[in-house]
Amino acid sequence: MTVQPRPNALSESYWMPFTAARAFREAPMMFVGAEGMHYLESGGRRVLDGMAGLWCVNAGHGHPRITEAIRTAAGQLDFVSSFRMGHPGAFAFAERLTAAAPEGLDHVFFSNSGSEAVDSALKIARAYYRVRGEGGRTKLVGRAKSYHGVGFGGLSVGGIGRHKRDFGPLLPDVYHLPLPYDPARMGFPNGRPAVGADYAESLEALLAVQDPSTVAAVIVEPVTGSGGVYPPPQGYLERLREICTKHGILLIFDEVITGFGRLGTCFASQAFGVTPDLIACAKGLTNGAVPMGATLVSAGIYEAFMAGPPEAVQLFHGYTYSGHPLACAAGLAALEAYEQEGIFANAAAMAEPFAQALHALRDAPHVVDIRTIGILGAIELAPRGGTRGPAVADRCFAAGVLVRAAGDMLVLSPPLILAPAEIDRIAQTIRDALLAEA
Ligand code: PMP
Repeated sequence: MTVQPRPNALSESYWMPFTAARAFREAPMMFVGAEGMHYLESGGRRVLDGMAGLWCVNAGHGHPRITEAIRTAAGQLDFVSSFRMGHPGAFAFAERLTAAAPEGLDHVFFSNSGSEAVDSALKIARAYYRVRGEGGRTKLVGRAKSYHGVGFGGLSVGGIGRHKRDFGPLLPDVYHLPLPYDPARMGFPNGRPAVGADYAESLEALLAVQDPSTVAAVIVEPVTGSGGVYPPPQGYLERLREICTKHGILLIFDEVITGFGRLGTCFASQAFGVTPDLIACAKGLTNGAVPMGATLVSAGIYEAFMAGPPEAVQLFHGYTYSGHPLACAAGLAALEAYEQEGIFANAAAMAEPFAQALHALRDAPHVVDIRTIGILGAIELAPRGGTRGPAVADRCFAAGVLVRAAGDMLVLSPPLILAPAEIDRIAQTIRDALLAEA
């Protein structure tokens, strides 16, 4: 049977992710192109992208170097099996990526998304203890409000209850730390709050109940991202690191959002001076241009797996598209672009103007909290726990600025190539939208 394409471009054939598909068809937000800081609508209107796509196009949209690298790679080698085969691009990219990573994270396992990078990290953590003869270490610790993707592993350690509602039993033996934030003590933070390191003691308290020798790993986002941009209190991550080291537990940073320059350094780990044992990353890894995830691991972990007989596969894990040639080419070009164009340095330079512009909205209607760090920001709106965000974001979009809305929050994460004029436009558009909502 020949299937005729339907005349309606918005047919229900496409089951849209994360989207109220029927509402979307009433008021579609559709883009046909993108360049630099802007999306392009079919009518020709340019929309300022306050979200870097979805926290990912750090070097701006349609970066010529990255586009060209993908084009060249596609013409050369389309695919290589991930079983017993390789290609030079994966080795070259791995070397380049680990050189940019925090010291000691010298090896990388490739996947295709943030969710897969997280699940790979969790599986590597458990398998690591098995190969070391400590198979009893299986428990995993996450944190409230964390987002670690949609795989059953990431969903289990994730800390947003409503995301789990429809999906039945998740992984057993998973525990959660509290979010290290209290608006009464730490409200309106610009960067890391001075108080709150004591939240890390909740890990010691949990271990006192659970027996540390049964715990494999603790996973946190260094800055809670989709849950609402919560910068970690000063000393908090340092203390988590100490506690994990003391008990021989692996510390995993989910840097899917914070990786590749959001805080002015390649990884948040470098900005905070705290080195985890594993880092999951994605998004800015290829500047969003080709799907890819990566799990960086310490030499100690890698060596434990390599200690077996040379012919043995120690980790039966991977994806058909792990280290895909197009993704590796895009990733290599993205890292070169970040470095040669000083993109992380621009993020560092713009962080304070960005923070000032957002915090100046403190007196605008409905605002109950504003949190900023690097080129990340969240504006929380009254009533707390309400749903004012989408209405305000719709007004911003009508005015030509794309901001992300989640419940009572507006979230900002523009490309790292932003300039003061764009910061001002984003802030002014939000102010106007908040005033119009009054
Ligand atoms: N971890 C974090 C911190 C994320 O922000 C995301 C995506 N927003 C993920 C994991 C999942 O990534 P993906 O959607 O690529 O699977």
